[in-house]
Amino acid sequence: MPLAPTDFIFSEDQALILHTASEFARTELLPLDRACDVDESSVAAILPKLSEMGFLNLLVPEELGGVGCPYRTFAAIIYELSVWSPSVGVTLAVHSLVGGIVARFVGEPLRSRWLSAWGDPRSFAAFAISEAGAGSDASSVKTTAVEVEGGFRINGEKMWVTNGLSAGWLFTLVRLAGLPLDKNYCTLMIDARLPGITRTKIHGKMGIRGSETAVVHFSDVFVPVDHLVGELGKGLETCLASLNQGRIGIAAQATGIGKACLTEMVAYARQREQFGRPIGSFQAIGEMIADSAVELEAAKALVWRAACAVDAGETNRSASSMAKLYASEAANRIAYRAVQVHGGAGYVRECRVEQLYRDARITSIYEGTSEIQRIVIARELAQP
Ligand SMILES: Cc1cc2nc3c(=O)[nH]c(=O)nc-3n(C[C@H](O)[C@H](O)[C@H](O)COP(=O)(O)OP(=O)(O)OC[C@H]3O[C@@H](n4cnc5c(N)ncnc54)[C@H](O)[C@@H]3O)c2cc1C
Repeated sequence: MPLAPTDFIFSEDQALILHTASEFARTELLPLDRACDVDESSVAAILPKLSEMGFLNLLVPEELGGVGCPYRTFAAIIYELSVWSPSVGVTLAVHSLVGGIVARFVGEPLRSRWLSAWGDPRSFAAFAISEAGAGSDASSVKTTAVEVEGGFRINGEKMWVTNGLSAGWLFTLVRLAGLPLDKNYCTLMIDARLPGITRTKIHGKMGIRGSETAVVHFSDVFVPVDHLVGELGKGLETCLASLNQGRIGIAAQATGIGKACLTEMVAYARQREQFGRPIGSFQAIGEMIADSAVELEAAKALVWRAACAVDAGETNRSASSMAKLYASEAANRIAYRAVQVHGGAGYVRECRVEQLYRDARITSIYEGTSEIQRIVIARELAQP
């Protein structure tokens, strides 16, 4: 079943791109994703094909050559892709997140220039906020910008940068020297191929091993002044507002993983026999399937609601945090059950649920841990 409610009717174009996404992911992304999981190679190898099919351009307005999807269609596409390749799901979610930032916070003429090229693999983008000492607390970043003639010199190091090896653009949070400490946050679009930038792959991830994760080091990197994104001193606000939308992409990814786990669980429960019967006929197995199906539907509804809120221009944060919190925790529970239903067969690499179990784990950590989502929700609801 798709992400959208059953009575929702997509336009013909959007229904076609959703169908194409699902078929393409099933036939081409699944084998790629499985191979990348084994040897830790990057799914970015498929960027030219994703570009050709319009997937790098999903949120870019049509007048700038993009697909111009509403956010709910975008979430539905990330869901379909993630059912077959959670690594491609997050790769595109992050690239699109940065495109959304350019659309929202960059002034003309750069906004049009950059977005017109957003579907080109050379514009592939990363969201580089976290540092070794700054994870949940983005306000503790230490990467520094010093004002120089015509721009800034950047020094520092970003950690855990998804898409960080192949990206052409790095959206980055820095602190501008010389401003008061609480007013010195700035966000910049940095050309990732500039001299002074080194990128190092982070090896040995538990899951989403086809998704690139890198350390990005800045050593005296010159960034022109017009690459400043949003208002000087308001960088933290820009990041948090962007993450509010980005989290829906991760929630959609988690929901796709949950769907894949449920499908595998049901198929196995039907064909595996013990005590002379299919294991699906045992009440305990049925309960795991039923709980997973209910949680999957609840996750889909929350993701859809959050995406509709973005389309409606709502600015509250709790809808996307609720979707991210619930969908990611549900994906972990469903993946756990999927392995349990498979018994020993689910514990080895050949079995897809073994990978999905590992892939699900990150969804409750990146773009804000579950603990941080609870803080966001409670703050919005409980504070006057
Ligand atoms: C594979 C991967 C990809 C990533 N991609 C990106 C990316 O593209 N860009 C980027 O900028 N970052 C990225 N990250 C970083 C990710 O966003 C952070 O790991 C995450 O925000 C958590 O930060 P941390 O790891 O420093 O954990 P910490 O912040 O140190 O948290 C450790 C634990 O303490 C808890 N905790 C922290 N503060 C509180 C609090 N106030 N109340 C209750 N509990 C709290 C956390 O929930 C967690 O359980 C990625 C990480 C990984 C692993």
